[in-house]
Parts: sequence; C-alpha cells; structure tokens
Amino acid sequence: MQRPYNFSAGPAAMPAEVLEQAAAEMLNWPDAQGRLSGMGVMEMSHRGKEFLSIYEAAEADLRELLAVPANFKILFMQGGGLAENAIVPLNLSGLRAGNGQGAADFVLTGSWSEKSFKEAGKYCSNHIAASSKPDGFTAIPPTASWELRDNASYVHICSNETIHGIEFQSLPDLKALGSKAELVIDFSSHVASRPVDWSRVGLAFGGAQKNLGPAGLTLVVVREDLLGHALSICPSAFDYKTVADNGSMYNTPPTYSIYIAGLVFKWLKRQGGVAAMEARNIAKAELLYGAIDATGFYMNGVARNARSRMNVPFFLRNESLNDAFLAGAKEAGLLQLKGHKSVGGMRASIYNAIPLEGVQALVQYMQEFERTHG
Ligand SMILES: *Cc1c(COP(=O)(O)O)cnc(C)c1O
Repeated sequence: MQRPYNFSAGPAAMPAEVLEQAAAEMLNWPDAQGRLSGMGVMEMSHRGKEFLSIYEAAEADLRELLAVPANFKILFMQGGGLAENAIVPLNLSGLRAGNGQGAADFVLTGSWSEKSFKEAGKYCSNHIAASSKPDGFTAIPPTASWELRDNASYVHICSNETIHGIEFQSLPDLKALGSKAELVIDFSSHVASRPVDWSRVGLAFGGAQKNLGPAGLTLVVVREDLLGHALSICPSAFDYKTVADNGSMYNTPPTYSIYIAGLVFKWLKRQGGVAAMEARNIAKAELLYGAIDATGFYMNGVARNARSRMNVPFFLRNESLNDAFLAGAKEAGLLQLKGHKSVGGMRASIYNAIPLEGVQALVQYMQEFERTHG
C-alpha cells in the first residue's frame, strides 16, 4: 500500500520499512541470527544481553553514520531538546568559572535558540551575542557581528531552526573568531541529514522525533573532556558524566525508542549513509524552493544562504486560499502541511524519511493548485 506523504515537523514520518520490521518483531524479537527471544523489545530488561546487543548496535551504527570521533561520547537520554536547554547549562556553564556564576552566549536565529537562551538564564549568566529577531528570523547574523564574551563557557546555536526554516550551511569556527568557548549545537531537526564538522563542536544534542526515530529519546554527543564539570545542583540523572560512566543506563533508558532509532540507523546505512542522504536532501530542497520561487503565487522569505533543507515554510500570497490548499493537499495524500502557529502559512518538513517522490508529488500539487486558483 502506498501511504500518504507526511510532512509533519515532528514527531515525523518514519521509513515504512522500519515500521514494518518493528511490527513483525513486536511480540517476539529475533536476534541477528534469527534466534527468537520469546519477548518483545518493550518487555526486555535494559541490562539483559538481548537489549544490550540492540543498544550496542545502535550506538556503533550512529557513531559510524555521523563519523563521531573516538574522543566523543554518545549518550542516549530523555527529556527532549527542551530539557537539554537546562541540562546543557547545568553541565557546561561552569566549565570556565567553576561552580560559581558561569556564562554562556547565544546566537538567536529563531524560536528554538530563543527558548534555549531564556532557559539558560536560570542557571548562568546568559547573553545574546547576535540575533536576527529584528528581521523576523529570516537570516543568520554574520559571524563577524557576534559579540562573544571572554568568560563564556560555551556559545549556543540552533543549527537548524525547525519553525523558521533557517539552517547553518556550515558551523561557525569559534577559534577563528578569537573565542575560547565551546560550540554547542541543537541539531534536533537536521541530525543525520548532512555531515557534522566535529572539529568545531563541543556538544551536540537533539530530540529523536524529527529525523532519527520516535519521541522519548534524546541524543547527546559530547567531547570527553567536557564531562565532570556539572554544577552541584545538577540532577544526577542529567549529569553527563554520570550518564556516560553508566553507558546511558544510570536509570532506565527509553529502550523501545532506542530500538526503533537503531532500525532507522540500519535503514540509513542501507540508503548509503549520511553523504547519500545529504545529496538527496539537496535535490529535494532545490526542487521545492524552485517551485516556491517560480511565480509570485507562493513565497518564502528566508535569506537564500540560510534556507533550511529540512523545514520549508512557505506562504500563499493570497492567504484566504490557505484552507482550500490544505484540504486539497490532504485529498492528494499530502499530510500535515499547516505552518507553525507562530509563523502561519504552510510548512513542509522534508526529513530523511521523505523520498524525492514525496517532494515531486507536493510540487505537482502546488502547481496544479496554482493553475486552478491563480
Ligand atoms: C523539536 C525541537 C526541540 C524540542 O524538542 P522536545 O523533544 O519537544 O523537547 C528543540 N530544538 C529543536 C531545534 C527542535 O526542532
């Protein structure tokens, strides 16, 4: 059965092959040799050999896919991207100030980095190094304009702003900007869509439900020397060192979400890995932005060098046609295209699990709608 294409921003479309495999294994999980365990994955002890094999394969596959260097730890946590907005300053803000008043700088490019900035203020001195809010979050402030503080432990960016559709096409080189701070990236909504330059990153975090798997799992990739600096008020279960020392099993990890994410990692490897996904994502984004820019009927206001390959907000110039556009899309098997309430209009999230054919179907519908309503 051909399922509709689902353009949700998150929780988002999953590869059908992954859902089919999970369904087949729901009641009785088989190991790699096909030996049946007699249990579903949800029913397994997280410390048993069956689940440990699932966990270890997931971690190894992710390390390979994202080319994570050996001196970085991969942590499977819970709490989502929003909890990390607190957990990161609890762990890193004191890096350079000890347990006193730590400091962190933020570059605001959309709702998510703004949320991170506000939350960090509960735990440390937070400062806006640059912001594109005055332009309605339609661009990335040039790095030369960033006002970085000498005492900041880290600089936070959201490398893909899911709501405003803004993506860093390359990560800032803080050293070249004369900063000693670590770069923290929130890569929730474009992780595994393109390679990461780890030489520029101290810590990356992301909720799984955009591009990796189901909600409930939060991925943290952190350089080892940044562990062990948590503020004394940091909850034990959120101290990265405690989590790392216990192989992400200080408390019960989100086992089923890890299992599903592990199936997605295997699927990504079968697709050719992250470089192959990036090539496809470029082709998908070019096709969709090309259709938006082609006539005056649709529009996207983001600066071209900051347009996200993953989340594409767009507007009908005649907004009174919005409801008709969405109703027709649903009928054509194109789901969840309504824009975020804070931005309005439409948004097509075209994550890894959306094939080129899905974007082709969307573009065809957009052209047809323009012909009949233009
Ligand atoms: C979705 C999202 C979050 C929030 O994730 P939760 O899991 O809901 O806490 C944070 N940052 C970005 C960039 C996101 O897209």
